[in-house]
This record gives sequence, structure tokens and C-alpha cells, in this order.
Amino acid sequence: MGQSQSNMTKQPMIRVLSRDEAIQALQEAEATDHFRGDVRMDPVNNAARKELFYSPVPSVPRVDLSKVNIRTPIRIIWMDSSAEGGMPHTRWPDLVCIPVFWPEFSLAKTILHESIHVDQRMRANVWIEWCIREGWTLVEESEIPERWLGRCRLNPDTMKYRFWAYQNRWVPLPLYEREDKPVLRDVHVFWWDRTTGVLHKDPPRAIAEYIESIGTPEHPFEIAAYKEIQL
Ligand SMILES: [Zn+2]
Repeated sequence: MGQSQSNMTKQPMIRVLSRDEAIQALQEAEATDHFRGDVRMDPVNNAARKELFYSPVPSVPRVDLSKVNIRTPIRIIWMDSSAEGGMPHTRWPDLVCIPVFWPEFSLAKTILHESIHVDQRMRANVWIEWCIREGWTLVEESEIPERWLGRCRLNPDTMKYRFWAYQNRWVPLPLYEREDKPVLRDVHVFWWDRTTGVLHKDPPRAIAEYIESIGTPEHPFEIAAYKEIQL
């Protein structure tokens, strides 16, 4: 008993939700972040999720989370393995949704990454200031050309402050490879040059090295989470 108490004081709390709790929490999340509703309103994003289920699993797997390192308290929901194409993600305010069958060897790293996204929701202003210090500027959605905007994957972790320009110029856009048959995981991050209007397949030299090992550097919040930045 002494040991578990000392663990609790050292480490922010993780709580795993039952299915009933998870259903309730996801309803509350939707009322605030509107992620699923926004997906339904967006033809390409909706098509990419057409065959996928988005529901918590009936019974939560037994996984040891006692050594998982997190940045802020979180609640975990185990989701159907097809939810968001099997990609872990967060929902308002502190929910971390993980597909059941997520490999246990990478669970700790994944939960830390997602807890950084929860922290970004909780302390948005602190993270926005970090983005600005790193050389990013928030870009209005209306500035993104319609033909690219309609092909951008919607990500619940980044959708509230959706577009940013690096050095006032380079805007990463996670575009579905195929607009007619979008596949949720089949996305490439292009770089739109807002000074020339040209869309580049490769990152600009100014940032290429900084994001070298990052699979989808689609947003400064994503870059921060991959780099496990702590503020
Ligand atoms: Zn992420």
C-alpha cells in the first residue's frame, strides 16, 4: 500500500475507463470538440472513415500501466481496432483513445506521446507560445486553397489550431494520396509555400533536418509530441 501511494504522488494519474464510462466520456467530448461531427461534414474525411467503427471495446484489456510516464493526468479508452484507422488519438479534455491490440512494447511511448497532446489541449496558450518561439505562425483556414483544404486529413489532436506556417511561409498539409478513394493512413505531408502558392512534396530545407525522423510532421503540436518536448 505504501508503495502504490508513493507512486501516485510521483506520477500524474492514469485511469482506464470501462465501456460505459467511455461511451459517456466520448459523448461529452463530442459536445465540445465536435470531431466526429466535423468529420461527417467533410466529404473526403468522411469517406476515409466510411468502413471504420468508432466505439470503445466491451472489455478492457489487462495491461500494466504502472511504469508509463505521462505529462498530465489522462483517461484511457480502449477502442475498436479500426477506430481512426487504428491510430491512437486524443479527445476533449483528457481522453487518450488507443486501439485494442496496440502492441504492448510500444504502449509506453505511445501513451507519453498522447499525454503531450492532452497537455496541448489543457494548456493551449503555453503550447501556442512555444510554436511561435519555434518560428511558427497560426494560419487561418480560409487562407488554404480550397483544392488542398478539402484533401487534408482531420486530426483530433491538432484540429483546434489547425494550420501553421513555418518562417511565415511553409504550411505543412497532410493530404490524402487519393481524393477520390481516401484511405485514413494513406497520407503524405506536403508543404504549401504561401508566398508562391506552390505545393512541395518535400519539406523545405529550413526545417528538413529538424523533422527528419518524424513520420508525419503535419503540425507543430505533432512535431512536439514526437520529440517529447516538455514545457
Ligand atoms: Zn500525435
